[in-house]
Amino acid sequence: MPRILDPELRRALAARIRYYNEMGIYDFYRRPLSDRAGEIAAATIVDEAEIAVLANAGSTTQPELGEEMGPRKAASLAMPVPEENIFEVIALKPEQSVSDPVKALKIVREDLGDCTRCVLHKQGRKQIVFGVGNPKAELMFVGEGPGADEDAQGEPFVGRAGQLLNNMIKAMGIEREQVYIANIVKCRPPGNRTPEREECATCSPFLMRQIAVIKPKVVLALGAVAAKTLLAMSASMMQLRGRFYDFRPAGVRSNDPDWDGCKLAVTYHPAFLLRDPRQKGEAWKDLQMVMKELGMKAPKATT
Ligand code: SF4
Repeated sequence: MPRILDPELRRALAARIRYYNEMGIYDFYRRPLSDRAGEIAAATIVDEAEIAVLANAGSTTQPELGEEMGPRKAASLAMPVPEENIFEVIALKPEQSVSDPVKALKIVREDLGDCTRCVLHKQGRKQIVFGVGNPKAELMFVGEGPGADEDAQGEPFVGRAGQLLNNMIKAMGIEREQVYIANIVKCRPPGNRTPEREECATCSPFLMRQIAVIKPKVVLALGAVAAKTLLAMSASMMQLRGRFYDFRPAGVRSNDPDWDGCKLAVTYHPAFLLRDPRQKGEAWKDLQMVMKELGMKAPKATT
């Protein structure tokens, strides 16, 4: 008879199966108990049916590979599932003992310093663009990285894309000052190129700390880079949008025991909407989903 699986072990098992799935291994079998001394093995506490369920649940999407895969593999890739990093190290951060979010954010900024942690520091940045807005915001927007205007002014989303973001915020019935806005990387990638994965990985821990300080109810990821970095998963925008994810900033905990993460939704980056305005309707649907979650009502249209 299968025993109840410890949630931590269940996550570890899902991660291990996901790892094997990514290598193309889908078949699992049980070994006799005597063969497995000292191992953390799935078969010691679950039956094959549970392993099959976990194998499917643990699969992450590689949509670009879907066409090459047989029906069995494709089926397990149908639904994007965020990877849970069960091996993450939660180090105590200096701001965690500070209850005032303004002071706590200042500590994070000071810790960032004149950052040279990734190559973007020597590729023409004028300044670090840390983030702006209400340190107690219920809603936080996270974009990709600063552009030329942001680099010049030291504030995220101040160029044309920023104006569109302001309009989006206004359409929700709130002001820019009520939300918090930041990016995955804090230095401008040269030529506005997409930040590299390593740059995102190096810079995003500071964003995670900002999120843990602000403790929003909803984080709205703007575009694929923000979504994929925050969720640590790979999927198309079509797969990522239209639902909420349970989100906890990786590698850091809030100083508030009552805040155990928030909801995360995904929408198009305003720069993309400027290039393809036909998608604005879709973005509005995403904003409405967020508004509903936050109990917000859109302002009445003025004539
Ligand atoms: S992008 Fe982030 S990690 Fe890279 S240099 Fe700038 S602040 Fe540092």
